[in-house]
Amino acid sequence: MSFRMRLLAAFWAVLVLALALPGFFFQKELRQAAFGDSKERIQKELAFVHWSLQEHASFPWLSDLDTWCTQAADRLGVRITYIAQGGKVVADSHVPYDKLGFLDNHWSRPEVVAARAHGFGISVRRSATLRRDLLYAAVPVDHIANLPPGVLRLAMPVSSLRERLDEQYKVLWAILGLGLIAAAALAYFLSSFLERPIAQLADLAEGIGRGQVHGLRRSLGDPSLDALARTLEHLGRRIEQQMKHLEDQKTRLETILESMHDGVILLADDGTIETCNRAIHDIQKDPRPRAGLKPLEVFLNRELQQACDHVLKGGAHQRVQISMEGDRTYDVHVVPLQRTEKSRGVLLVFHDISELKRVARIRRDFVANVSHELRTPLTAIKGYAETLLESPCAEQEEPRSFVETILRKANHMTRMVNDLLTLTRLESRPLPVPDTAVDARTAVRAAVETCQQEALKKEMDLVVDLPNTPLWVSADRDHLVQVFQNLMENAIRYSIEKTPICTSAREEGDRVVFYVEDQGPGIRPEHQQRIFERFYRVDKQRETATGSTGLGLAICRHIVQKLGGKIWVESPVPGTDRGARFGFFVKKAPGSPATAVSDHNTPHGLKEHPA
Ligand code: ADP
Repeated sequence: MSFRMRLLAAFWAVLVLALALPGFFFQKELRQAAFGDSKERIQKELAFVHWSLQEHASFPWLSDLDTWCTQAADRLGVRITYIAQGGKVVADSHVPYDKLGFLDNHWSRPEVVAARAHGFGISVRRSATLRRDLLYAAVPVDHIANLPPGVLRLAMPVSSLRERLDEQYKVLWAILGLGLIAAAALAYFLSSFLERPIAQLADLAEGIGRGQVHGLRRSLGDPSLDALARTLEHLGRRIEQQMKHLEDQKTRLETILESMHDGVILLADDGTIETCNRAIHDIQKDPRPRAGLKPLEVFLNRELQQACDHVLKGGAHQRVQISMEGDRTYDVHVVPLQRTEKSRGVLLVFHDISELKRVARIRRDFVANVSHELRTPLTAIKGYAETLLESPCAEQEEPRSFVETILRKANHMTRMVNDLLTLTRLESRPLPVPDTAVDARTAVRAAVETCQQEALKKEMDLVVDLPNTPLWVSADRDHLVQVFQNLMENAIRYSIEKTPICTSAREEGDRVVFYVEDQGPGIRPEHQQRIFERFYRVDKQRETATGSTGLGLAICRHIVQKLGGKIWVESPVPGTDRGARFGFFVKKAPGSPATAVSDHNTPHGLKEHPA
């Protein structure tokens, strides 16, 4: 139903109600007024007839009364009945005198009963004698002329009154109907004036929706509607501009995305691929349509899927490396996106690092080869130097000092070559995922045993503060030993004599945290971040003399990271004004340590911290 028709229907409904209600009310009022008039009239006429009877000379015969009634009734246009006490009708203007004997007893007629009881009675009912609806009024009569006491009754037909009323009703409803039709037609006509501007406004809005904004050719005939049209037009132009701006931006973004060398994928809320750029097709080399698939279905990589799921659940940015066919490696950044308040998505950026990897591998291979090649001549140099030291030519001080320097430098180089080889090995091969749980206390004790000799030289105590129960961690025992040994060697090397070095451990949730703490000079803040870089030494001159290579902490960081942990340094030791405390954590071994490796031997000279 159109707006106009709905408006008209509502208007007509109101109009009908507005006219019909007063009509009904007026009809009722008319009826009441008409009946009221008739009642008043019959009452007056009854009083008049009663008075006339009283004034009349006596009636010799009852038939005279009947004749008088007939004549009076003719003149008044009513029916006059005289009912003697007991209910016998003795005169009736509308029944011949000789037929009166056949009439019913009238003593129980409602108006007669009311007249006897209250002095006056009135009722409207159907006359059994005349078979018409009559309005009756009756009064008791007593001692008039020579008449027997009884009831005088007047009746007048109601139908004439009804007919008159019906006539008036017809006129009333005809007037109301005509008024209704005229008002409805006028409303229909006027509504067309309202519909036209609405249709024009709708046309304008529809044009805006289609992106074709056009102004109004002529006024809508109402200033407020014209203002609305102008606002709509202005709005349309603004939308048009915004759309154009958005289109430009979209095209620009699409161009950038399409010309990017990096692959980009946008995941929808449900983790399926929403869109991707052309570079992804080159990466995947698969023409299958990707929209609607999960990353796992396209790249067959569980780690990548887990990273996406993690970010979709509200996790932070993730970074995953995936290998694809053709020896290609991609560094994938999985970034959370908050698109709207409720909708979040995930952006995957695939950066090709195959070349970087290749260069790193070449560098690693080169370092490994060089280190390997250097080992043999270094062993020979060390061997000859040691031999020379024991030969007679080393008895003179000068040549002896030369040979000692050669031996010291050769030892330093050997250490460096060994450290380099360890680092290269760690970099080139991923650490085997330890499927056995290791009691970390055994690794601490093994490292302490190795470093004991060095500690004794500087009269240092290696204090161990470990729990009495095993510390099961997921790690390779040798690697753990190497970390502890490097940290303890550093602590011994860089601390002053006769100070203790304390190694401790404690469990924190699903991790075990280890600390190696000394009371040496510590490390200044500006060096603390950099000491984990390879070849970084705080004091190069002095530390070369002490045999430092600058690789120990780099190796430690590598191992700890590969075990899923983290290493850090605090200097000075918290709560003191000196020393350095190296801390690192690794994950606890999951489940029961069924294949656990543990030893219960405390190395000789090891001082257990009181529990
Ligand atoms: P290296 O000890 O072989 O030189 P590292 O990588 O183990 O190499 O250490 C890097 C640098 O960190 C060291 O040269 C030293 O200056 C500093 N350092 C490491 N441990 C300590 C320590 N416990 N106290 C003071 N300085 C330290």
